[in-house]
Amino acid sequence: MQIDIGESSLSLVVGDITNSTVDAVVNAANGSLAGGGGVDGAIHRAGGPSILEECSEIVRLNGPLPTGKAVITTGGLLKARFVIHTVGPIWEGGHQDEPALLASAYNESSKIAFAHGFTTVDFPAISTGIYGYPLEAAAKVAIREVADFLRNTTKKLSFRFVLFDQRAFDMFGNVLRDEIGYEKSS
Ligand code: ADP
Repeated sequence: MQIDIGESSLSLVVGDITNSTVDAVVNAANGSLAGGGGVDGAIHRAGGPSILEECSEIVRLNGPLPTGKAVITTGGLLKARFVIHTVGPIWEGGHQDEPALLASAYNESSKIAFAHGFTTVDFPAISTGIYGYPLEAAAKVAIREVADFLRNTTKKLSFRFVLFDQRAFDMFGNVLRDEIGYEKSS
């Protein structure tokens, strides 16, 4: 599923983000940047130890990555050239600024991608696994934030959400249709 937003496009696919051949994949990391479960573990397994070495150096220099922020490393053995590591919020019921922090994770990642001149970027559904963010609420924040970014950019970008299962794909699809409209979708 794909929609056009200005010159750019926003797509949804089902898949494993470690297989993406793009300028950058976004990693749903944790503040220690030390790897972990879920998509984070998968990216480090597939990308090899150099990504972790770069992450360790970033944390050594700057301390743990705050929630809602993002940093970049190379892609190691991945087909993606770079990995943008961001930290989404842990869901604590919705009153701990979770929506703003999740929006920030998408926005900061998008800004890093833009600053590096990347045109193809794949995102996972940040915070919706181990961090427990309810899928529909997370999809709304994700789609709104990334669509806003594309709407306001001057470049032609192809951003995708790579959803790990059909349920997430269907949810993101429903939200995309509701938020952006049927007329542009294909
Ligand atoms: P978080 O800690 O931010 O919740 P998780 O990795 O636990 O991060 O989950 C985030 C989302 O990534 C979940 O929807 C999960 O199903 C999905 N996911 C897990 N592995 C992969 C993968 N290899 N490719 C794409 N998405 C993945």
